Amino acid sequence: MTDELPSLREQLDAHGLSAKKSFGQHFLLDLNVTRKIVRLAGPFEGRPVIEVGPGPGGLTRALLESDAGRVVLVEKDPRFVPLLSDLDDGSGRLTIVEGDALNVREDQLVEGPAHLVSNLPYNVGTPLLIKWLTGPWTPHALTLMFQKEVAERVVARPGEDAYGRLAVIAQAVAEARLVMHLPAAAFTPPPKVASAVVHLVPRSDRPEKPLLKALERVTAAAFGQRRKMLRSSLKQLGGARLCDEAGINPEDRAEVIDLAGFLRLARATVGQARPTPPETPEGPTLARRKRS
Ligand code: SAM
Repeated sequence: MTDELPSLREQLDAHGLSAKKSFGQHFLLDLNVTRKIVRLAGPFEGRPVIEVGPGPGGLTRALLESDAGRVVLVEKDPRFVPLLSDLDDGSGRLTIVEGDALNVREDQLVEGPAHLVSNLPYNVGTPLLIKWLTGPWTPHALTLMFQKEVAERVVARPGEDAYGRLAVIAQAVAEARLVMHLPAAAFTPPPKVASAVVHLVPRSDRPEKPLLKALERVTAAAFGQRRKMLRSSLKQLGGARLCDEAGINPEDRAEVIDLAGFLRLARATVGQARPTPPETPEGPTLARRKRS
């Protein structure tokens, strides 16, 4: 069916549309590329797919050719809605939602396990990823195009320059793999930087909300001062004592601590929720003094 449609470029011209920088618009107009991304994202086996930021619909066309069940589009730029409506064959398979993906409730768009596929607007790529990884709705799998530097930060391992908060949080929740690189020239208009696609599958043993919150606090403190030893960067959370409890060398820096180590630190902060011992008239208790 999509073969009978005019090319994406012809459709953009027919609707008088061009890319707007404020919406982070860099389009993929080569259907060979969008089909490849959809192959990497699937198989969908009839499950619904949410596509964020369909723009002119290159990925949408490939999704409609695939084994996806319903295809639900969330597009913030209202100019694209008439063009996207041209893809609707009236079968009820395609739903177009005009709105901001940061605010939509995905559980109200789809029922049961659903995939997320997107060539993300770069300006909101990281907040959207955090929403999907730590928010109330969990996708079945996510296949997301980021600027290369962000993609590398998602999949980075301890000791790598790109390793930081995003890697620890993303990998605590999901198995993350970088599955495709794309040069800037693949997009219209080309962005300043290269891009890459990351495929994430949420883990069955992902941390519960309170532990995830603790992990966010620990990684924010540890990587907030990444050049410092953990005994000082984590001082507010317990410093050397916390490291001891978690079996971590307090003289290590955040960049060498693996996911398991950060999870132990996070668990130790949750276990710490005991009331602080009262101060004696002579000064802080031994427990307080040891901590400093
Ligand atoms: N999927 C299209 C493609 O590959 O050619 C367009 C990708 S373009 C990088 C990003 C798209 O996201 C644009 O269509 C833009 O209007 C849309 N967008 C930007 N911010 C958005 C938001 N907060 N919520 C939903 N869509 C958004």
